Amino acid sequence: MLLTRRRLILGAAAAVPIGVLALSRKESSMPTVTPEGPRRVREIERVVTAQRTSDGAGVNLNRILGGRELPMLDPFLLLDEFQSDNPNDYIAGFPDHPHRGFETVTYMLHGAMEHRDSVGNHGRLGPGTAQWMTAGRGIIHSEMPKQERGLMWGYQLWVNLPRKNKWRAPRYQDIPAEKIPERDLDGAHLRVVAGNAAASTGPVQGIDVEPLFLDLALTKGARFAHDLPAGHTAFVYIVEGALRVGPSKRELRRGQLAVLAPGESFEAHCDAEQGRGLLLAARPLGEPVARRGPFVMNTDDEIRQAFDDYRSGRLVGG
Ligand code: MN
Repeated sequence: MLLTRRRLILGAAAAVPIGVLALSRKESSMPTVTPEGPRRVREIERVVTAQRTSDGAGVNLNRILGGRELPMLDPFLLLDEFQSDNPNDYIAGFPDHPHRGFETVTYMLHGAMEHRDSVGNHGRLGPGTAQWMTAGRGIIHSEMPKQERGLMWGYQLWVNLPRKNKWRAPRYQDIPAEKIPERDLDGAHLRVVAGNAAASTGPVQGIDVEPLFLDLALTKGARFAHDLPAGHTAFVYIVEGALRVGPSKRELRRGQLAVLAPGESFEAHCDAEQGRGLLLAARPLGEPVARRGPFVMNTDDEIRQAFDDYRSGRLVGG
Protein backbone atom coordinates (compact mmCIF):
# COMPACT_ATOMS: atom_id res chain seq x y z
CA MET A 1 0.00 0.00 0.00
CA LEU A 2 2.74 2.37 1.03
CA LEU A 3 4.80 1.19 -1.93
CA THR A 4 2.03 2.11 -4.37
CA ARG A 5 1.64 5.56 -2.90
CA ARG A 6 5.36 6.24 -3.09
CA ARG A 7 5.49 5.12 -6.69
CA LEU A 8 2.75 7.60 -7.51
CA ILE A 9 4.64 10.39 -5.82
CA LEU A 10 7.90 9.51 -7.48
CA GLY A 11 6.25 9.25 -10.90
CA ALA A 12 8.86 9.32 -13.63
CA ALA A 13 11.65 8.95 -11.12
CA ALA A 14 10.48 5.47 -10.11
CA ALA A 15 13.79 4.04 -11.29
CA VAL A 16 15.57 5.47 -8.26
CA PRO A 17 15.29 3.59 -4.97
CA ILE A 18 11.92 3.85 -3.26
CA GLY A 19 11.86 6.52 -0.62
CA VAL A 20 14.74 8.52 -2.02
CA LEU A 21 14.70 10.88 -4.92
CA ALA A 22 18.06 12.13 -6.04
CA LEU A 23 17.34 14.99 -8.40
CA SER A 24 19.73 16.26 -10.99
CA ARG A 25 20.88 19.87 -10.86
CA LYS A 26 18.46 20.96 -13.56
CA GLU A 27 15.28 19.59 -12.05
CA SER A 28 12.97 21.80 -10.07
CA SER A 29 12.43 21.42 -6.34
CA MET A 30 8.93 22.89 -6.53
CA PRO A 31 6.22 20.84 -4.83
CA THR A 32 4.79 18.23 -7.15
CA VAL A 33 1.06 17.63 -7.38
CA THR A 34 -0.02 14.04 -6.85
CA PRO A 35 -3.47 12.45 -6.98
CA GLU A 36 -3.50 13.04 -3.21
CA GLY A 37 -2.88 16.78 -3.50
CA PRO A 38 0.16 19.03 -3.33
CA ARG A 39 3.26 17.58 -1.72
CA ARG A 40 5.02 20.15 0.43
CA VAL A 41 8.77 20.31 0.64
CA ARG A 42 9.63 21.21 4.20
CA GLU A 43 10.76 24.79 4.68
CA ILE A 44 13.16 25.95 7.38
CA GLU A 45 11.07 27.14 10.31
CA ARG A 46 13.87 28.23 12.59
CA VAL A 47 17.67 28.15 12.78
CA VAL A 48 19.61 27.78 16.02
CA THR A 49 23.36 27.77 16.54
CA ALA A 50 25.23 25.34 18.80
CA GLN A 51 26.31 26.83 22.15
CA ARG A 52 29.56 25.98 23.95
CA THR A 53 28.93 24.36 27.33
CA SER A 54 30.31 21.76 29.73
CA ASP A 55 28.79 18.53 31.06
CA GLY A 56 29.77 15.20 32.64
CA ALA A 57 32.98 15.47 34.68
CA GLY A 58 34.08 18.51 32.65
CA VAL A 59 33.61 17.66 28.99
CA ASN A 60 33.52 20.73 26.75
CA LEU A 61 30.90 20.32 24.09
CA ASN A 62 28.46 22.07 21.77
CA ARG A 63 24.85 21.94 22.90
CA ILE A 64 22.58 22.27 19.93
CA LEU A 65 19.26 21.12 21.36
CA GLY A 66 18.26 20.97 25.01
CA GLY A 67 19.71 24.33 26.05
CA ARG A 68 18.03 27.64 26.74
CA GLU A 69 17.59 28.58 23.10
CA LEU A 70 15.82 25.40 22.02
CA PRO A 71 14.85 23.29 25.08
CA MET A 72 13.28 20.45 23.09
CA LEU A 73 11.72 19.38 19.82
CA ASP A 74 9.22 16.71 20.82
CA PRO A 75 10.28 13.87 21.00
CA PHE A 76 13.92 15.04 20.80
CA LEU A 77 15.21 16.31 24.13
CA LEU A 78 18.88 17.04 23.59
CA LEU A 79 21.62 17.05 20.97
CA ASP A 80 25.25 17.47 22.03
CA GLU A 81 28.31 17.51 19.81
CA PHE A 82 31.77 16.75 21.12
CA GLN A 83 34.48 17.62 18.65
CA SER A 84 37.99 18.39 19.82
CA ASP A 85 41.59 17.30 19.37
CA ASN A 86 42.48 18.73 22.76
CA PRO A 87 42.27 15.91 25.37
CA ASN A 88 41.49 18.49 28.08
CA ASP A 89 38.12 18.95 26.40
CA TYR A 90 37.10 15.27 26.63
CA ILE A 91 39.38 13.23 28.90
CA ALA A 92 37.21 13.60 32.03
CA GLY A 93 34.35 11.80 30.27
CA PHE A 94 31.02 10.89 31.82
CA PRO A 95 31.66 8.69 34.89
CA ASP A 96 28.82 6.66 36.47
CA HIS A 97 25.51 8.51 36.20
CA PRO A 98 21.85 7.46 36.06
CA HIS A 99 19.10 7.80 33.45
CA ARG A 100 15.38 7.09 33.57
CA GLY A 101 12.46 7.66 31.25
CA PHE A 102 14.06 8.18 27.82
CA GLU A 103 16.68 6.95 25.33
CA THR A 104 20.26 8.10 24.72
CA VAL A 105 21.76 7.75 21.26
CA THR A 106 25.50 8.02 20.65
CA TYR A 107 26.89 8.41 17.15
CA MET A 108 30.66 8.46 16.72
CA LEU A 109 32.57 9.94 13.78
CA HIS A 110 36.14 9.88 15.14
CA GLY A 111 37.79 8.48 18.22
CA ALA A 112 36.48 5.95 20.68
CA MET A 113 34.35 5.82 23.80
CA GLU A 114 33.84 2.95 26.24
CA HIS A 115 30.61 2.31 28.11
CA ARG A 116 29.77 0.18 31.16
CA ASP A 117 26.49 -0.09 33.01
CA SER A 118 24.60 -1.45 35.98
CA VAL A 119 23.01 -4.19 33.85
CA GLY A 120 26.40 -5.68 32.94
CA ASN A 121 26.76 -4.27 29.43
CA HIS A 122 30.21 -3.18 28.34
CA GLY A 123 31.40 -2.07 24.94
CA ARG A 124 33.58 0.13 22.82
CA LEU A 125 32.18 2.74 20.45
CA GLY A 126 34.62 3.41 17.61
CA PRO A 127 34.38 5.59 14.49
CA GLY A 128 31.14 5.13 12.56
CA THR A 129 29.36 3.23 15.33
CA ALA A 130 26.03 4.03 16.92
CA GLN A 131 24.49 3.08 20.21
CA TRP A 132 20.79 3.37 20.97
CA MET A 133 20.25 2.92 24.69
CA THR A 134 16.74 2.72 26.08
CA ALA A 135 17.08 3.68 29.74
CA GLY A 136 13.48 2.76 30.59
CA ARG A 137 12.91 2.47 34.35
CA GLY A 138 16.54 3.04 35.16
CA ILE A 139 20.17 2.48 34.38
CA ILE A 140 23.49 3.69 35.76
CA HIS A 141 26.28 3.86 33.22
CA SER A 142 29.61 5.46 32.40
CA GLU A 143 30.69 6.83 29.05
CA MET A 144 34.45 7.41 29.00
CA PRO A 145 36.95 8.28 26.26
CA LYS A 146 39.00 5.30 25.11
CA GLN A 147 41.85 7.49 23.90
CA GLU A 148 44.31 9.91 25.51
CA ARG A 149 45.00 12.09 22.49
CA GLY A 150 43.74 12.82 19.01
CA LEU A 151 40.40 13.90 17.62
CA MET A 152 37.22 12.96 19.42
CA TRP A 153 34.13 13.68 17.36
CA GLY A 154 30.67 12.38 18.12
CA TYR A 155 27.08 13.16 19.01
CA GLN A 156 24.64 12.36 21.74
CA LEU A 157 20.94 12.63 21.09
CA TRP A 158 18.22 12.14 23.70
CA VAL A 159 14.87 10.78 22.54
CA ASN A 160 11.83 10.68 24.79
CA LEU A 161 9.83 7.56 25.63
CA PRO A 162 6.03 7.54 25.76
CA ARG A 163 4.53 7.38 29.25
CA LYS A 164 3.64 3.71 28.85
CA ASN A 165 7.28 2.74 28.20
CA LYS A 166 9.15 4.89 30.70
CA TRP A 167 9.07 1.91 33.07
CA ARG A 168 10.18 -0.74 30.61
CA ALA A 169 13.39 -2.74 31.12
CA PRO A 170 16.58 -1.07 29.87
CA ARG A 171 17.85 -2.14 26.45
CA TYR A 172 20.99 -1.54 24.38
CA GLN A 173 21.40 -1.60 20.65
CA ASP A 174 25.14 -1.41 19.94
CA ILE A 175 25.62 -0.99 16.22
CA PRO A 176 29.06 -1.64 14.68
CA ALA A 177 30.02 0.67 11.82
CA GLU A 178 29.71 -2.06 9.19
CA LYS A 179 26.07 -2.72 10.14
CA ILE A 180 25.04 0.81 9.14
CA PRO A 181 24.05 0.74 5.44
CA GLU A 182 25.95 3.21 3.25
CA ARG A 183 24.67 4.33 -0.16
CA ASP A 184 25.95 6.61 -2.89
CA LEU A 185 23.40 8.46 -5.04
CA ASP A 186 24.61 11.09 -7.54
CA GLY A 187 27.03 12.86 -5.23
CA ALA A 188 25.09 12.11 -2.07
CA HIS A 189 26.66 9.71 0.40
CA LEU A 190 24.22 8.31 2.91
CA ARG A 191 24.48 6.34 6.15
CA VAL A 192 21.15 4.99 7.39
CA VAL A 193 21.28 4.64 11.18
CA ALA A 194 17.53 4.35 11.74
CA GLY A 195 14.49 4.34 9.48
CA ASN A 196 14.36 3.73 5.73
CA ALA A 197 16.24 5.46 2.94
CA ALA A 198 17.74 4.48 -0.41
CA ALA A 199 16.08 1.05 -0.25
CA SER A 200 17.97 0.43 3.00
CA THR A 201 16.70 -0.05 6.50
CA GLY A 202 18.74 1.24 9.41
CA PRO A 203 19.82 -1.32 12.01
CA VAL A 204 18.14 0.42 14.96
CA GLN A 205 14.80 -1.32 15.47
CA GLY A 206 11.74 -1.26 17.70
CA ILE A 207 11.84 2.38 18.78
CA ASP A 208 8.49 3.87 19.85
CA VAL A 209 8.75 7.16 17.97
CA GLU A 210 9.65 5.56 14.58
CA PRO A 211 12.84 7.58 14.12
CA LEU A 212 14.70 8.42 10.95
CA PHE A 213 18.42 9.07 11.50
CA LEU A 214 20.42 9.80 8.35
CA ASP A 215 24.01 10.97 8.03
CA LEU A 216 24.03 12.74 4.71
CA ALA A 217 27.13 14.05 2.90
CA LEU A 218 26.79 15.95 -0.38
CA THR A 219 29.53 16.96 -2.78
CA LYS A 220 29.36 20.24 -4.70
CA GLY A 221 26.38 20.30 -7.07
CA ALA A 222 24.63 17.32 -5.48
CA ARG A 223 21.00 17.29 -4.45
CA PHE A 224 19.08 15.01 -2.10
CA ALA A 225 15.40 14.56 -1.38
CA HIS A 226 13.64 12.22 0.97
CA ASP A 227 10.04 11.53 1.99
CA LEU A 228 9.15 12.36 5.58
CA PRO A 229 5.89 11.57 7.39
CA ALA A 230 3.94 14.85 7.46
CA GLY A 231 3.25 14.80 11.18
CA HIS A 232 6.77 13.95 12.29
CA THR A 233 9.09 16.44 13.93
CA ALA A 234 12.21 16.91 11.80
CA PHE A 235 15.46 18.81 11.93
CA VAL A 236 18.82 18.86 10.20
CA TYR A 237 22.12 19.72 11.89
CA ILE A 238 25.12 20.66 9.76
CA VAL A 239 28.24 18.82 10.87
CA GLU A 240 30.58 19.90 8.04
CA GLY A 241 30.57 22.48 5.27
CA ALA A 242 27.23 23.93 4.18
CA LEU A 243 23.90 22.76 2.74
CA ARG A 244 20.99 24.66 1.21
CA VAL A 245 17.68 23.38 2.53
CA GLY A 246 14.00 23.64 1.62
CA PRO A 247 12.18 25.66 -1.05
CA SER A 248 13.92 28.89 0.04
CA LYS A 249 17.34 27.19 -0.41
CA ARG A 250 18.61 29.02 2.63
CA GLU A 251 22.23 28.17 3.37
CA LEU A 252 22.99 26.39 6.64
CA ARG A 253 26.57 26.21 7.85
CA ARG A 254 28.44 23.96 10.24
CA GLY A 255 27.11 24.35 13.79
CA GLN A 256 23.59 25.35 12.70
CA LEU A 257 20.42 23.34 13.30
CA ALA A 258 17.33 23.97 11.20
CA VAL A 259 13.91 23.04 12.56
CA LEU A 260 11.83 21.92 9.58
CA ALA A 261 8.24 23.07 9.09
CA PRO A 262 5.50 20.52 8.39
CA GLY A 263 5.53 18.87 4.98
CA GLU A 264 5.94 15.57 3.20
CA SER A 265 9.56 15.74 2.06
CA PHE A 266 13.02 17.05 2.82
CA GLU A 267 15.24 18.56 0.16
CA ALA A 268 18.80 19.79 0.32
CA HIS A 269 21.48 20.68 -2.16
CA CYS A 270 25.09 21.68 -1.90
CA ASP A 271 26.79 24.50 -3.76
CA ALA A 272 29.69 24.73 -1.31
CA GLU A 273 32.73 22.46 -1.58
CA GLN A 274 30.85 19.94 0.53
CA GLY A 275 28.07 19.69 3.04
CA ARG A 276 27.26 17.07 5.62
CA GLY A 277 24.29 16.96 7.96
CA LEU A 278 22.41 14.73 10.34
CA LEU A 279 18.74 14.50 9.36
CA LEU A 280 16.50 13.42 12.23
CA ALA A 281 12.76 12.87 12.23
CA ALA A 282 10.37 11.15 14.62
CA ARG A 283 6.76 11.03 15.77
CA PRO A 284 6.06 13.61 18.48
CA LEU A 285 4.60 12.23 21.71
CA GLY A 286 2.46 15.21 22.74
CA GLU A 287 2.75 14.27 26.42
CA PRO A 288 3.73 16.49 29.36
CA VAL A 289 7.48 16.56 29.95
CA ALA A 290 9.10 16.93 33.37
CA ARG A 291 12.89 16.81 33.23
CA ARG A 292 15.76 17.43 35.54
CA GLY A 293 19.36 16.40 34.93
CA PRO A 294 19.45 12.76 33.81
CA PHE A 295 15.74 12.02 34.28
CA VAL A 296 12.87 12.73 31.89
CA MET A 297 9.37 11.87 33.12
CA ASN A 298 5.81 13.21 32.75
CA THR A 299 5.34 14.84 36.17
CA ASP A 300 7.43 16.59 38.84
CA ASP A 301 6.43 13.87 41.32
CA GLU A 302 7.97 11.26 39.05
CA ILE A 303 11.18 13.33 38.88
CA ARG A 304 11.32 13.49 42.69
CA GLN A 305 10.74 9.75 42.80
CA ALA A 306 13.61 9.21 40.36
CA PHE A 307 16.01 11.19 42.56
CA ASP A 308 14.76 9.33 45.67
CA ASP A 309 15.14 5.97 43.93
CA TYR A 310 18.66 6.86 42.80
CA ARG A 311 19.76 7.99 46.29
CA SER A 312 18.33 4.89 47.92
CA GLY A 313 19.71 2.47 45.34
CA ARG A 314 16.31 1.57 43.90
CA LEU A 315 16.78 3.10 40.45
CA VAL A 316 18.23 -0.04 38.91
CA GLY A 317 17.31 -3.69 39.31
CA GLY A 318 13.98 -4.94 40.61
MN1 MN B 1 24.55 8.85 29.86
